[in-house]
Amino acid sequence: MRVLVIGSAHLDIIAEATSGAGTMDRPGRLRIHAGGTAYNLAINLANLGAKVTFMSAFNDSAISAMLIDEMESQGVVVEPVIDTGLPDSGFSAHIDQGEITSAVSSMAVERHRFGRSDVAEHITRHDWVALDANLSVESLASIIAEAKEQGRPCSLQLVSEEKALKLGRLPAPDLALCNYREHRHLMSSVGASDINGLVIVTNGPGPAVAYRGPKLEASSRPEEVEGIVNTLGAGDAFAAGVIIQCAKHGLVDIDAAMDVGHATAGEILTRANCNLGKHDVLNQRMSDLAKRANRDQLTGALNRHGGEGALEQLAASGSCFAAMMVDIDHFKDINDTYGHDVGDEVIKLVTARIRDSLRDHDFLIRWGGEEFLLLIPGADEGTAIKIGQRVLDRVRRHQGVASGRATVSVGVAMHQPGLDGKRTVKAADEALYQAKRAGRDRMVVAPGGGLIEKQSAVV
Ligand code: GH3
Ligand code: MG
Ligand code: MG
Repeated sequence: MRVLVIGSAHLDIIAEATSGAGTMDRPGRLRIHAGGTAYNLAINLANLGAKVTFMSAFNDSAISAMLIDEMESQGVVVEPVIDTGLPDSGFSAHIDQGEITSAVSSMAVERHRFGRSDVAEHITRHDWVALDANLSVESLASIIAEAKEQGRPCSLQLVSEEKALKLGRLPAPDLALCNYREHRHLMSSVGASDINGLVIVTNGPGPAVAYRGPKLEASSRPEEVEGIVNTLGAGDAFAAGVIIQCAKHGLVDIDAAMDVGHATAGEILTRANCNLGKHDVLNQRMSDLAKRANRDQLTGALNRHGGEGALEQLAASGSCFAAMMVDIDHFKDINDTYGHDVGDEVIKLVTARIRDSLRDHDFLIRWGGEEFLLLIPGADEGTAIKIGQRVLDRVRRHQGVASGRATVSVGVAMHQPGLDGKRTVKAADEALYQAKRAGRDRMVVAPGGGLIEKQSAVV
């Protein structure tokens, strides 16, 4: 069975305070999921065995790229309409007895206009069209009209009280699905007799019910889904179950469709994520990103990845800079004698001494285990030597850890504008090697091609 889903995808940022009622900044849990009514529906339908195509308007942000990638990795075919004019937008949602348990950043899909010609071919290739009310009234009207002309059944999910009112301004979809809140709002604002088509209330304090106009058609409430009220994504799962059943067997047996909806929603309640998709996909992605982030955890200096970026930028700017490689002497002995933890402390202390020797806009990079690269923009050789000297002296004077005294060796190279930054770093590394060979605790400068050794003054 092939389902075309059109609507919104976004990030759900779910913040749950776990204690400290009444205070502003409360301890709690933060989880990030991909979500959105249409997103959830698409993922749920795919997991229930449907072939799903997802259409939405995305902007060209990294969030959009991530969402598209995520859906495709879960077996949904995505037909993104890239609209660079679309803003990111945000709102908070899901207020549960005065507690906001979820905040959402959404794509402003409502601002994009889908015309009949944009969707006609896609509709032809699918058996069911599932929409959500995040789309504009104009887009919804066009898509529903096209689906009707092609004889494809069409469902619409009503997603918030205000957006639910769109139902009254549309050609009747075959099926509308909404939460209890939206249903109440719809009934009081539009009036039951003005509601077109079949409306199923997917979750709420009472039993799940189905209305056709003012007439109650079905009602069922299996015990196990009592907690369905206000569980993020449960309504979307319910809708997916109903749609699967109706797409297979038609809109005839509403009770049976609602039972499938209940079963699907019940499945969601046993999970921490808001759809039937892979658990924690975005959290996983975030931790991968954190690993690749620019800062080194132990020292707070830039890590190799961040340092390579800084080097590339500096070289591309066409200005002069000094590259300075600093390596702790006989560090292996410190580890072997005092243990790895003391070794870590020495790395932190040396980092602090180097940082004290630099200006704010110089770059301090943890290039390897006990090796640092310093990039000093605008420095001439004289300045670089002064800074190198300062590093040597300050490290030498450090006290405070069990290992006692530590020293470093320094290799300096001046970057010539127009050359590859990596070559300059290599020259600094060669100079460092010379400093090690010459006895350590000293600096060697590599001006141009040749190396001139400059032994440090002993303090
Ligand atoms: P040299 O004076 O020639 O630089 O000698 P060295 O002993 O400092 O150099 P070597 O490269 O032989 O050893 C470096 C050691 O640093 C080996 C490695 O286990 C250790 N190391 C690397 N990263 C860390 C770290 O994060 N913490 C600790 N404690 N040790 C580390
Ligand atoms: Mg070393
Ligand atoms: Mg080393």
